[in-house]
Amino acid sequence: MNATRWNRREVLGGVLAAGALSSAPFRSSLGQQPAGTMTERSELLIRNAYVLTMDAAVGDIAGGDVHVRGGAIAAVGRGLTAPGAQIIDGAGMLVLPGLVETHWHIWTALLRSLAGDSQEYGYFPTSRTIGTFYSSEDMYAAGRLAAAEAINSGVTFVHDWCHNVRGPDYAQAALRALTESGIRARFSYGSPTAASNDASIDLRDLTRLAESWREHSNDGLLTLGLAWRGAASAATVRDYEVAKELGLPISVHANNFQSSAGGIQQLADRKLLAPGMQVIHAVWCTPAEIRALADNRVNVSVSPYSEMRIGFGFPVVGDLIAAGVTVGLSVDTTTLSGNADMFAIMKAIQNIENGRTLNENKMTARRVLELATIDGARSMGIDASVGSLKAGKRADLIMVDTRALNLAMLTEPAHLLVEAAQPANVDTVIIDGRVLKRAGRLTSLDVGDIVAGAERASTAVRRRSGWTWPSQP
Ligand SMILES: [Zn+2]
Repeated sequence: MNATRWNRREVLGGVLAAGALSSAPFRSSLGQQPAGTMTERSELLIRNAYVLTMDAAVGDIAGGDVHVRGGAIAAVGRGLTAPGAQIIDGAGMLVLPGLVETHWHIWTALLRSLAGDSQEYGYFPTSRTIGTFYSSEDMYAAGRLAAAEAINSGVTFVHDWCHNVRGPDYAQAALRALTESGIRARFSYGSPTAASNDASIDLRDLTRLAESWREHSNDGLLTLGLAWRGAASAATVRDYEVAKELGLPISVHANNFQSSAGGIQQLADRKLLAPGMQVIHAVWCTPAEIRALADNRVNVSVSPYSEMRIGFGFPVVGDLIAAGVTVGLSVDTTTLSGNADMFAIMKAIQNIENGRTLNENKMTARRVLELATIDGARSMGIDASVGSLKAGKRADLIMVDTRALNLAMLTEPAHLLVEAAQPANVDTVIIDGRVLKRAGRLTSLDVGDIVAGAERASTAVRRRSGWTWPSQP
């Protein structure tokens, strides 16, 4: 179920192919597509940029060029020529792989900043109560908002950890939102929120989706996984076994609260840790548990803003990396983190690690940037196709304009990206060769319509649930 490429002919009958691969005439002026129409893949030559390839063998290229053709990176270097390609001036720009997000409950995007100030209005009661009133259209509205925010922020891959699949139409609606946005993603299929652990997820629907994934993969941009609840019961272990039989990647939250320490050890003891699996948070780990993660080649996703905001604690990225665990960075939920700013997440990771270890040089900006790009891609099993800028890989890349007040001057590029950059500095976003943001504006998504749809859905579902903040009129 990895990012297998389907050829166009195979997918033309598929769910979204008609829109995504329309044979609309080639547009010579980037960023001029009418709202709501998926952008064509372009042949582009970015010229004279500062290119951070994030490829260990190549490093950075000052005054570098990137040639994009057919959705892939054709070449990276200096003085490239590409007759017929559209030229993008890279002067003043940092060019780097798109940021890779590794765990996000996208359906909670309608509940932004709604975790309250007392225990009964905290994140879990809020999301679980309102979540049970969600319609499938709410999943769609949330997905559109999150995907648009991600693309706008320079995030080219998201892991939609969907633990509110209340029926097959909910999964379809979430997938439709991802598909229409043009983002690259893994959709991890889970339970309805607040469901009992005594019941399995809808394994029949999961199996049907897995077996017909070609129709849902959006030309290879989307993959399927299991949003696993852990070994809480025979039913949840059954979920794990079925996902394994289907060859789906498995992701699980573990050792997040201090009181949930020991969870990874239990998974290890039951032989439920497997290569390529993802463990989320892993805040409270013994050295033996970190060794078990490394020995079993299990990857970890950390989400500093939800972990700190909810009081789990501080991510232990340095300990994980030192043991050889591959780490990716994540948003988790904008109910707690507020937004999907991966630059802020990178900055938090560096600051937490240096502060925690009383060491100015513990976590370098370059290392954090790796977590947000190539290591994040490794942690999701997609590093063969994205995560660094290298000929032959798919063309997921961003351009960051250093001529803004908060970024000038062009000093040390990795430090600038981790310490100073913000989503507003993302000038251009290219995913699978499609220019989805150009000159600071989304090219194919209608922001006004997406925000209005999210606003309507959020207001209505909160009203249906009867959930209001005590302080709200
Ligand atoms: Zn989570």
